[in-house]
Formats: sequence, structure tokens, C-alpha cells
Amino acid sequence: MTIAALLPEIPGCGAAPRIAASDAGRATVTTAEVTTAKVTTAKVTTERGQREVFCGLTGIVWLHRKMQDAFFLVVGSRTCAHLIQSAAGVMIFAEPRFATAIMEERDLAGLADMNDELDRVVTQLVARRPDIKLLFLVGSCPSEVIKLDLGRAAQRLSRRMMPDVRVLSYSGSGIETTFTEGEDACLASLVPELPAQAPDAAPSLLVAGALAEAVEDQFSKLFAGLGIARVAYLPPRRACNLPAVGPNTRVLLAQPFLAGTARALQERGAALLTAPFPLGAEGTTEWLRAAATAFGVNADRFETVTALPAQRARQAVARTGARLAGKKIFFFPDSQLELPLARFAAREMGMQIEEIGTPYLHRQHLAPELALLGDDVRIVEGQDVDRQLDRCRAARPDLTVCGLGLANPLEAEGLATKWSIELLFTPIQGYEQASDLAGLFARPLARRELLKV
Ligand code: SF4
Repeated sequence: MTIAALLPEIPGCGAAPRIAASDAGRATVTTAEVTTAKVTTAKVTTERGQREVFCGLTGIVWLHRKMQDAFFLVVGSRTCAHLIQSAAGVMIFAEPRFATAIMEERDLAGLADMNDELDRVVTQLVARRPDIKLLFLVGSCPSEVIKLDLGRAAQRLSRRMMPDVRVLSYSGSGIETTFTEGEDACLASLVPELPAQAPDAAPSLLVAGALAEAVEDQFSKLFAGLGIARVAYLPPRRACNLPAVGPNTRVLLAQPFLAGTARALQERGAALLTAPFPLGAEGTTEWLRAAATAFGVNADRFETVTALPAQRARQAVARTGARLAGKKIFFFPDSQLELPLARFAAREMGMQIEEIGTPYLHRQHLAPELALLGDDVRIVEGQDVDRQLDRCRAARPDLTVCGLGLANPLEAEGLATKWSIELLFTPIQGYEQASDLAGLFARPLARRELLKV
């Protein structure tokens, strides 16, 4: 077992091309089955077939920037190392907080004891990087195929290294998953580590889901304006600041793909607030309103705090997204952000939705989004990529939001595309970012117009 991408000078790191250049991380599953169900007000079709998605390792790209004393050690193959270096390479400005412990042939052939090898690699890593306080062992397809028990390895290493370093594990494998599930698995692995809230503690708000620091600061200011004093974020910026959780915790999800994390928090006694997600002026207002209602903030105060920033956001979206009104948009399933994005595109920019594909549809968490989208929208859960491509070609949308693997072929067919993964790498939540979000949709069309002869 060897370590790759520990330091920025490792070849390929920092200068690597974007993921589109490679098939790394893409999982393909083939079966065929179609069912239909009625959910809330929208009609949802379920498809099972070949999928084009990236794996959960991708989440490390934004998670390692968020938790400043955490380190992500992928236990995987050269393919995994290539994916993670390619995806994150363009964003490395300092020493990365991730690496891959590459399983060599002798590891896979059983000639070396994998647990001894892992202990050796982790010891070496921690000695080189004393800033690490929280180490995630991240499972991959290869480590799962050979049934390497990273959970037990993490417990063993944690016993040895605590209190200096806490070691946890989760899976980022691409088998039957999509790329945002990596964040869900990572945060869910943190939940058992959260300290218990005192039984008589005052109610507190826990915002779950990685947000850019600037966005987090904006939300903290808004919550303070509303008089909600006890607010914490998961993940925290530092491992030593794990928020307490218990029956007096109210959880507001900042991302729609955190089903496992939400379940784990509920098992610790926390209550989940359901709301639209904080994208655009409307989404942000309704998301804040859910917290305000739970904490008994009166309507006048809510209006005073939110009216002005909401109005500014609406005006900025109207300016940036003006050219998008009436344009057709088609979402392929990739990030699990598709429903809130479609709601924003339709209700705040006046776009016409052709289809919303989503890898999974969590009915409870997305109920407010489904209600805002209404009856007439076509939602497809899962994927049969060939059928979906046929529908997309027939619809000839003005903009297609899709994964990297589909973007180039669709561009070659004359369709304007937006990479859905960019919507995870870019801060898009909250009032101040609403215009940037509109800009992400507007740019591909503006570029096309500029290229027209
Ligand atoms: S975890 Fe699986 S899908 Fe992801 S890069 Fe590694 S081998 Fe590929």
C-alpha cells in the first residue's frame, strides 16, 4: 500500500485536467424496470437502467476545504486516486487534506496483511501531518470488493491515537450510489461522535450540510437578527467544535441529499424541520421561515429581517436571469439538487421545465419542493440513460443540466449544457448568492450567443 497525493508537489496534483477527461469514478448499472407513483401533487416516474453518475469520493473535494483539521484518506485504487486528484486538483492552493492509500497487487492478492499495511500508512501520515485532528478512512469500490473492514480499522486506530486524532470511516464507493452520497455518509459517520445535549438545554438549531464559510456567516447573521441565538453547523469548521445534539435540537437541512445524516440525527432525538432548500429568494425565505416558526419568532420581526435581502435577491436574479424567461430546461439525474434547482429556475426565472431527473427522491425532505413545483412537472427518479437521452433530444431544451460524462456529447449535438457538479462546488445558497446561481444557468446560453456567427 502506498500513499498518493499527500503533498501538492506530487505529479499531477494541482495541474490535473477536470474529471471529464477520464472515466474514473463513473459507475454503470444495467437493468430495466419502470414504475409510476403519485407523490404529493407531482407525478413521479421511476426508471431503472444504465446510469451515468460519479461516485461518493467526489464529496471530498468540498468537504476537505470545509473541515480545516480533518483529513480524508481514501483506501482504494489508482483509479480512485486519479478521480480525486483530477476533481480537486484545480482547487488546491495549499497542502491538500486528502490522499489515497493505493492498494497494490500484493495487497489485493493477500500477500500483505491489509490491516497492518493500513496501520503503517496511517502512522506515517499522522507523523507527517500533525495538524490532523480528525481522520476519515474512506472506503472505495476496491476496498469493498475485498471486504476490508474500515469500520473496525477506524475503531482500532482511534483507540491508539485518541485524544490527538479521532479516526472515523465511511464509504465513498461508486457501487449503486451517486456522488453527493459521499457527503451524506461522511456526516452520518460524525453523528455518533456528537456530544449529548444536556436534558435541560435551551432549544438549539443545527444546520446540516456543508456550506461555504461566507454563506454560513450570512446565515448566522440572519439567525441572530431573528433572535435564534444557539445555532451550530454540521460539519463544523474544526473537529474539536462538534455540536451537541439531543431532543432540544431542531435540524434544518441545507442540502437535500442528507437522508442518512437526518436519520442518524433523529435517532439521537433531534427534530427535523422540513422546508424548501435555501436556493433563490423564495427558497431562502421559506427555509428561514421554518426555523423562525420553530423558534417562535413573530411575523413582524421575520419580515423586518428578511424583506430587504429577499427583495435585493429577487432584483439581482431578475437582472442576471432575464434572458432565461420562457427558455426550456432539462435536468438529468446527478446531484440530487435537481428539484430545488428546477423550482428556482421555474418560479424565479420563469423557465419552462421539460423534465426533472433525480437519482433518488426523498419524499419527506422534498415535500415542500414538490408542493411548489405543482402538478404539471415531469419528475423521473433513477435513470435509464438511453431513454432519457431520447426524451432530451426530442424536447430540444435550451439548457440541459447534466453530469460531466453527458455534457460533451450533448454539446456536440448542439445543446447548451451546465455541469451539475459545478452547482456543488459553487456557493449558491442564500440571498447573496441568488444572482450567482442565476448566472450559472445564464452563462452557457450567453456563451452560445457570443459564438454565433
Ligand atoms: S470508488 Fe469506485 S467508482 Fe469511485 S473512483 Fe474508486 S473505483 Fe471508481
